Amino acid sequence: MADFDVVVIGGGPGGYVAAIRGAQLGLNVACVDDWKNAQGKSALGGTCLNVGCIPSKALLESSEQYEAVQHDMAVHGIMIQGVSLDLAKMMARKDKIVADFTTGITGLFKKNKVNSIAGRAKLLRRTEEGWRVGIDNGKREIVAKYVIIATGSRPRPLALAEVDGVQIVDNVGALSFSEVPQRLAVIGAGVIGLEMGSVWRRLGSRVTLLEAAPAFMAVADEAIAREAWRSFTKQGLTIYLGAEIDGVSQNKNGVRISWRDAKSGTQTLEVDKLIVAVGRVPNSEEVADAGVGLKRDAVGRIATDEYGRTCLPGVYAVGDVVHGPMLAHKASEEGVMVAERIAGQESSVNHHGVPWVVYTSPEIAWVGMTEQQLKSEGVAYKSGQFSFQANGRARCLNKASGFVKILAHARTDRVLGVHIIGPMASELIQQAVLAIAFSASSEDLARTVHAHPSLSEVVHEAALAVDKRAVHS
Ligand code: NAD
Repeated sequence: MADFDVVVIGGGPGGYVAAIRGAQLGLNVACVDDWKNAQGKSALGGTCLNVGCIPSKALLESSEQYEAVQHDMAVHGIMIQGVSLDLAKMMARKDKIVADFTTGITGLFKKNKVNSIAGRAKLLRRTEEGWRVGIDNGKREIVAKYVIIATGSRPRPLALAEVDGVQIVDNVGALSFSEVPQRLAVIGAGVIGLEMGSVWRRLGSRVTLLEAAPAFMAVADEAIAREAWRSFTKQGLTIYLGAEIDGVSQNKNGVRISWRDAKSGTQTLEVDKLIVAVGRVPNSEEVADAGVGLKRDAVGRIATDEYGRTCLPGVYAVGDVVHGPMLAHKASEEGVMVAERIAGQESSVNHHGVPWVVYTSPEIAWVGMTEQQLKSEGVAYKSGQFSFQANGRARCLNKASGFVKILAHARTDRVLGVHIIGPMASELIQQAVLAIAFSASSEDLARTVHAHPSLSEVVHEAALAVDKRAVHS
């Protein structure tokens, strides 16, 4: 007889949410996770909670406050002198937030009767009773009718710049420098590069980002990427595009990086710390015994259909380890879908409605298609744009840079993409996500009453602008 209905491998936002949802639906669920925190203790929540989304947002908020009290208060008539930084305290605050939430997941598991098992799980073989899953190299074996693989991803290594955790770090080290590096370089101007580069610049580092791609933020809408470039370079981030790293060497004083780009030729840079943030790779190699026959795609992700089904009966996979953007909320929704499907429901995830957020200042958020995607796919579209500059709430917040851009189908008016750069873009995007989920038209958004004064009025005006009838421009 099987020990469990479902074994979830991985306790990050994909896995722990799947486990809780399964348990809510009456399934007997175990979640196996081997994450150890800096103190060597088991901690649920995976990369997102322990060394990703949550600690980075804590530091983004703290560093933004630090910068604001130094530079943005005088305009309000608030004069502040003698500001100083207690980095250890800032880090301790971040660590406490993380610890509270990992304990919180343990509590949620208890409440929902999810069996939490600390250890490394591997799919061994299928028997008549179900799937045999080995824990910690076969020290223990459990049997489950269904398995959900949610093993996440790890930083993509860069051969030339091997992470030592001291001078050369990945996302983990970038969240816990014990002092502010005077000179900091980041290889990769993607989401982590921009967020962590912003944190340390605000705290006092001179930050240089070296990006291999010739275009800045190529995944974003081009108008947003242009505005972001303007903002970030004005704030003091130095960004080189099309940068090809030639060599990285270390001595006791720091790290020396040499690189080439078409515009400036060969250059060298000496820094105290180097962050490597060149993307992530799925943790798919060790989760199943070779004999099991779990199929992976060309880039190593576990192959699944739109319902998270792998090639093996009763084995599902969700989150960073499968295709799609490596985003916590996408993983969680897939976790819910799979748990519900195992319980007999017909759930699905709208992968076209997954929002992206970059927590820089200004924030950047989007959902749906970019203008360049619409052009390349030959979709007839119309566009409306409205600036935060003309918005009362944004002006009162003294955060009036950026804009909202809405793309709608030329004939049906259906909202195809919404792109925001500006204050609280991470929150504003949600009405656009809802619009896309409900196949709304730009007119639906335009005819919805938006509170005044609020930042959301910029979304409203952008929707009106699609029909060339914005009121305040
Ligand atoms: P990313 O894919 O966002 O960016 C990596 C960047 O590195 C790309 O711009 C790429 O062109 C560049 N690059 C690759 N190889 C390079 C090289 N050899 N030299 C110079 N540049 C190179 O990846 P990331 O920033 O490492 O983040 C990892 C994952 O975590 C992403 O999938 C991201 O979506 C996710 N994440 C999300 C958030 C968020 O949602 N706010 C925050 C952090 C991370």
